[in-house]
Amino acid sequence: MVSNSLPDRHSGLPATWQQELADAVSDPVELLDLLGLRPDQLDPGGLDGLRAAAVTFPLRVPRSFVARMRPGDPQDPLLRQVLAASVELQDAPGFTSDPLEEAAARRAPGLLQKYLGRALMVTTGACAIHCRYCFRRDYDYAADTGLERRWEEAFRTLAASPDVEELLLSGGDPLSLSNARLESLFARAAALPQLRRLRIHTRNPIVLPSRVDNGLLALLARSPLPVVVVVHANHAAEIDEEVRDALQRLRGTGAQLLNQSVLLAGVNDDVDRLADLSCSLFDAGVLPYYLHAPDYVRGTAHFHVDDERARCLVRDLAARLPGYLVPRLAREEPGKPGKTLLLPAG
Ligand code: SF4
Repeated sequence: MVSNSLPDRHSGLPATWQQELADAVSDPVELLDLLGLRPDQLDPGGLDGLRAAAVTFPLRVPRSFVARMRPGDPQDPLLRQVLAASVELQDAPGFTSDPLEEAAARRAPGLLQKYLGRALMVTTGACAIHCRYCFRRDYDYAADTGLERRWEEAFRTLAASPDVEELLLSGGDPLSLSNARLESLFARAAALPQLRRLRIHTRNPIVLPSRVDNGLLALLARSPLPVVVVVHANHAAEIDEEVRDALQRLRGTGAQLLNQSVLLAGVNDDVDRLADLSCSLFDAGVLPYYLHAPDYVRGTAHFHVDDERARCLVRDLAARLPGYLVPRLAREEPGKPGKTLLLPAG
C-alpha cells in the first residue's frame, strides 16, 4: 500500500495535504540546496536574477514534486517548470499579460464564457505549485475569487443561462479549496437543472497527490452530475507511484480522467518525452486529451515552441502510438468558437 502523503517534517506523522501546502518550498536557495545546484548554474544573474524573477509571481513547489527532480541536473524538466529565472523579465514582441483576452469573456465576477454550452468558474487564485509558463500568471484573481458572495453572483448568472450544459471549475486550482467549499460548489451546480456535466481542471493530483483524500473521493463518488477531471502533467517524471495511486483512486469514483499538457521548450519538446508521457498517463488510467501550443504570455517566451515544430512532433508521435494516445495539438485564440486545432484530427 502506497502512503498518500509525505511524513510531516516536524511530527514524523503522515502530513495532510494542507500541511504539505504550508511546507512548500518558496525560497530559490532552499530549492537549489535540495538539488545540490548553485544559482550560477541556473541563471546568469545568479541568486539576484532568481530572486528578481520571483517578486511578482513567487516560487512555489511542493516537496513531493521536488523529490521527483534529478539532483545535480540544472536542465531537469520538472525544475525548469517551476524555477523563476531572470529570463522571465525580458520583454518579447507579441507576448502580453492577457493573450487570451479572458477579460472580454467575463460574464460575472469569476465566471467566464468563451464557448457555446460551457462556462468556466475561476474558483480560487491559489495553486499548490507555480508553473512559470502559466497563462493566468497575471490574472486579477482579487477581483474574481475568494468571496462567497461573488460565487452567488456567478450562480445567479448561470441560473439565467439555460444554454450552459457544462460547468468547468478552474482557477488557480479548484482542488486548493477545502472539501467543504467544494461540496458547496457541487451542490449549487447540481441544483441547476440545465447542467449535464461538471468538469474540474486541476494540477493538484499530479503535484500534490495527497490532495486526493477520502473526503474528496467521497464527494466525487456521490456527485449527481457526471464528473470529468482534467489533470495537467507535462512530463512522465511527474507521474510517480504516489501519483498513479491517486489517479487510480480518482478513477475509482467513476470520474472520467483526461490530461492536458503544454508543449514547453526544454521540458517536453521531444517525441520520446511526449511518447513516455502518453504511455505513463495511460498506465495511470488517464487519456491524453490536449497538447496546448504555448500561449503568448508575457515572461514565457523562453518556453516557446514554434507551430511548425509542434506539428512535426505530433506527427512523429502519431506515427508511433495508437490514436487514443496522441493528444490534440491545439491553441486557444480569443474570440474563436472553440480551440484551434493545429493539426487535423487523425
Ligand atoms: S497549476 Fe495551473 S493555474 Fe496554477 S500556476 Fe500551474 S498552470 Fe497556472
